[in-house]
This record gives sequence, structure tokens and C-alpha cells, in this order.
Amino acid sequence: MNASEECSGQASAPVRTLRFKVRTEAHSWLNAAATEANQVWNYFNATSYKASRPFAGKGRWLTGFDLCNLSAGATEYFEHIGADTIQRIATEFATRRIQFKKAKLRWRVSSSPRRSLDWVPFKAASIRRRGRYLRFCGKTIRIFESERFAKIDQWRCGCFAQDAVGDWYLCLPMALPEKTPAPTLAEVGIDLGLKDTAVTSDEDRLAAGQFYRSLETKIAQAQRRGHQRQAKRLHRQASRRRHNALHQFSRKMVNRYQKIVIGDVSSLSLLKTRMAKSVLDCGWGQLKTQLLYKGEYAGRSVQIVSERNTSRACSSCGSLTGPSGVNGLRVRSWICHGCGAAHDRDVNAARNILATERLPPSVRGNETSQRHAPPSRASRPRKARIARCAAAS
Ligand SMILES: [Zn+2]
Repeated sequence: MNASEECSGQASAPVRTLRFKVRTEAHSWLNAAATEANQVWNYFNATSYKASRPFAGKGRWLTGFDLCNLSAGATEYFEHIGADTIQRIATEFATRRIQFKKAKLRWRVSSSPRRSLDWVPFKAASIRRRGRYLRFCGKTIRIFESERFAKIDQWRCGCFAQDAVGDWYLCLPMALPEKTPAPTLAEVGIDLGLKDTAVTSDEDRLAAGQFYRSLETKIAQAQRRGHQRQAKRLHRQASRRRHNALHQFSRKMVNRYQKIVIGDVSSLSLLKTRMAKSVLDCGWGQLKTQLLYKGEYAGRSVQIVSERNTSRACSSCGSLTGPSGVNGLRVRSWICHGCGAAHDRDVNAARNILATERLPPSVRGNETSQRHAPPSRASRPRKARIARCAAAS
């Protein structure tokens, strides 16, 4: 569940979700509360599905408001969660049902090896601060970094969320006005790859971190010994390292450049190939998402363009003399036959990506740019005719 959902007010302000780790003594209480939250979710799921497809008559699509009304008075059947939480589950359920365009969503499973990651949402007013502690539904909860929590003035509707390891976090979305410095440079093209996760047209590189690969042996050892929790911790460590590297790189790009152009390479299409593990370890999708939202908040232009022919084309003269195909992947640098320029494979691709965005789209609409499109068969005889006419006159 995404905690950054907006409940009310200023939609345009950048919303950040602050996470605070909950101390272990509250874990069992939160686990019990999450089981109740799952029961409420499953009730909404069953009820709204039945309403949409009744045995007789016309179906009805229940909104979040309808579900809130249906759950009136349900609080007395639950020991942990209150009406606020039930209403938030109703609105969240209604939102997701519209988002995924489905009459029925997946059940939330409380106890099974394939159980859902636990989640207890709340309204902003139901969290009360008591010095260094907080009160929620009659329970005192202690969190880490309570000094940081004490400095916060206002928060929005948030949630308690559990990660795969089993630790609980308090997620508090809040509008944080941030000041991004004026960009020092105009534009940059970014090529995403496996050797280096990202290479820019200014020869800046984000080396492939191998976050998962470096911990793979340890994870395998932990799994062989039956240490499931340790294995999950190592997975979390890899994911946090990846996040950190990508956040630092995307922040640097957004602070430095006004216009950022990225290739549209899709990790989903490469998941069926032998490169799947490396592709997932790179986090291209995360990097794109980070650049898009950070760019939006900072008032930068971030564009995603087609990567077609960007590795093959020479960024100096535009001729298609570069490496191509699967065998061409090992060629890291090459010299253009057309103009003699020496190119680094990735930097050249990044420059082409930037150039693709600068050029107007093709009239025929089949190519992303006129410059990098191979001459079509139809145009060859025409060009020859024009040359003949020119020679005759
Ligand atoms: Zn060239």
C-alpha cells in the first residue's frame, strides 16, 4: 500500500512520506490490528463484488462513501482498530478498485506463507503525540528517531506498514516545500545500460552497483541453512543500497540540468531474457520514476524518448556505422567509418538520445528522428533520378 495517498487539501505541493521504525514491543499489537484490517478489507471486497453482480436485477458499483455507510457500527466487533481506520480502508479499497478496473480485488491474507504484507491505515487526527511517544487507538507506541518525530508540525492520513522482514514502520505523508537550486547546465541525455546503470551525454557515469549480485552467495547460504529471516534481511540490504545509489544520482541530475532526456528501454521486456537478473539489479524503472517526480517538483523538463538506433548511429555525422545486434553488445568503443570520430558506446548513445529529442518528429511518423532513420527504399530511386537530372542539366 502506498502511504503517500492524499486525503485532503493542497494537491499540488510535493508530498514526502517520512518513515519511522516502530519499536519491537508494539509489533504484536500491530500484527493483531493488521489482521482486523484485513478482515475489513475482505468484507468490502466480498460485499462490493456481490453488489456489482447480484443474482437478479441490475448491479451496483459501491463507492467508498457507500462502503463507509455499510460499515457503520462495526467498531464494536474489533478490539484494536477504530472507525477512522475502517473508513480509510473503505476509501483505499474504492480507489484501488477504480484504478485496476476490477469488480473484485485480491483477498488480504493474514496467516499463510503467502500472506499479505500487513498494513493499518489511519486518519491524520487519530495519531496523537504524547511527548516522545504516540497514541493510536488507545495504544502507546514508541518509535525510533523520536527527536525527528518531535519536530514535525503537521501530517496527513498515513499508515503503519510492515516490510517483508517483519519490521513495522510509521509512514507519515506531509507536504514539504523544498528549494531546488537553479540549474547550472541546460540539458543532458541519459543512456541506461547494464555495464553502467546510467551514462550521460556529459560522460558522467553511474556504475552498476551489483547490489544483489554482491550478496547472492550470502543469501544462498542463509537459505540453505534455513535462516529465512536473515535471507530477507540481505534482500532488504540490497534494495536499500540500490535505492540510495539511484536517489543520489537522480538528485544530482535534477539539481544540475534544466532538461533531462532518457531512453525508453523497458526492463519488463528484458525480463524473459538471460539478462533478467542484471536488469532487475540495475533499477532502471526506479531511476526513471525518481527523475520524473523530482524533475516535476523542481520545475525541470524530463522526457522519455525512443532508443531506436541510438547505439548504432554516430553522434557526429548521423551515419549508422556503430555496433548492432547481440554480438555488438561487447563492443564498448568504436570509430565511425563515415567521419572518423572515436566514440564510447554509451556516451555516444546518450548524445543521440539528447539529439533525438531536439529534432522534429518524422513526417511519416515511423521513425523517431529524420537524422537517424535509414534511407527508405522509396527514396533511393527518387534520389538517383534527382542526381541524374542534376548531372544532365
Ligand atoms: Zn560519424
